[in-house]
Amino acid sequence: MALSGLQIYKLLPKTNCKECGFPTCLAFAMKLAAQQVELDACPYVSDEAKEALSAAAAPPVRLIKFGTGERTFQVGNETVMFRHEKTFFNQPGLALRVKDTEDASAIAEKVEMVNDYSVERVGINMTFNAVAIENASGDAGTFAAVAETIRAKTDLPFVLISNNADALQAALAKEGDHKPLLYAATADNWEAMAGVAKASGASLAVRSQDGLGELADLTQKLDGAGVADLVLDPGGRDLSTSLAQLTQLRRLALKKNFRPLGYPIIAFPGEVADTTEGEIVAATQYIAKYAGIIVMDRFDPAIAYPLLTLRLNIYTDPQKPISVDPGIYEFGHPTADAPLLVTTNFSLTYFSVAGELDGSGLPAWLLICDAEGMSVLTAWAAGKFDAETIAKAVKTFGAGDKIDRKRITLPGHVAVLSGELEEELPGWEIQVGPREAVDIPAYLKAWK
Ligand code: SF4
Repeated sequence: MALSGLQIYKLLPKTNCKECGFPTCLAFAMKLAAQQVELDACPYVSDEAKEALSAAAAPPVRLIKFGTGERTFQVGNETVMFRHEKTFFNQPGLALRVKDTEDASAIAEKVEMVNDYSVERVGINMTFNAVAIENASGDAGTFAAVAETIRAKTDLPFVLISNNADALQAALAKEGDHKPLLYAATADNWEAMAGVAKASGASLAVRSQDGLGELADLTQKLDGAGVADLVLDPGGRDLSTSLAQLTQLRRLALKKNFRPLGYPIIAFPGEVADTTEGEIVAATQYIAKYAGIIVMDRFDPAIAYPLLTLRLNIYTDPQKPISVDPGIYEFGHPTADAPLLVTTNFSLTYFSVAGELDGSGLPAWLLICDAEGMSVLTAWAAGKFDAETIAKAVKTFGAGDKIDRKRITLPGHVAVLSGELEEELPGWEIQVGPREAVDIPAYLKAWK
């Protein structure tokens, strides 16, 4: 059970020394109860108190890490039901499943596709995160050989899928320190699976065939056997059942602090539907609510791009818009007679304008103002993109030194700032550009 702030306070030193960054031990206790700080921030907690406080200090959804090096990804540590309450922290990993019964060239093609696929959006590189390998043959040797062959082609983390602990053991022997996820322990095989997971240090998925009660029973047994890094598969596959199960799991973890179900969840949208469209719909649901790892059966850039974009949108902190650095950006090798345009540092705004400037093939300077990551109209309404801000950016980044004639083009949506900007920038000519980025190439062509 989670401890209240007052219960935690009773276990703290009560010296109010402030070393934790809070004015009092009580303030720190309240933050700890709300899981907004780490217990380690107080250097004076006794070992006895640490033990008692471990339940309060642990995240409601355990953080689990997969893989090694640059391809490592982590899931869990979520603290809210809805993104707008705070933010979601660790976006779900997307995996592509291959089976060890597939033709070697088909496996190689799929692995290459998922390994190499990368797409940039608002300056962020989006990729798939894992390869899932299923022991469909039932043969441990075949499974291990396929895993070894795939490992030679990619350093993506693996989800190793088999009901046979010996097959998982054989594949693990080829994995070195790559930290895969083993799938899955069930009521029938959990002891053998616990042995493999504990010996290797790999995370272990737990699949229930009889609802959340059985799932909680299994996780407690596995935890008792020394396997702490668990991932849940509640067993439901149709959209309605799995939505209900995943929502219940998140609620139990967050609202009831029910530790036996406080783990990330794995989902298989390809098992929900037998069409590409059906799999996309299911994957969309799992991204929104509340999967930690999503194993796809189909891969195509036309499937991957919208899913990765949705994931990015949902896992972006709503209180911290994605932004670019303020400054002067160059397009098409501009010289002193090229136009100077200005806009805000909201990433989507920047990349929309930058895309049109690039596409126009015409040279231009682009001044990016610090508008706290807001779009043009929002920033203007909030007083973050006004004449004073623009004039300050012009001076800070030496925009006047880049061009012969002092001219600057405002976004059409803030044409109203022209007069004020003339006052802020004496001697400058203020021009008004288009409202929409898509009209920038035509504007540049006509610009004099
Ligand atoms: Fe209290 Fe520890 Fe914070 Fe000091 S560091 S004020 S003892 S909680």
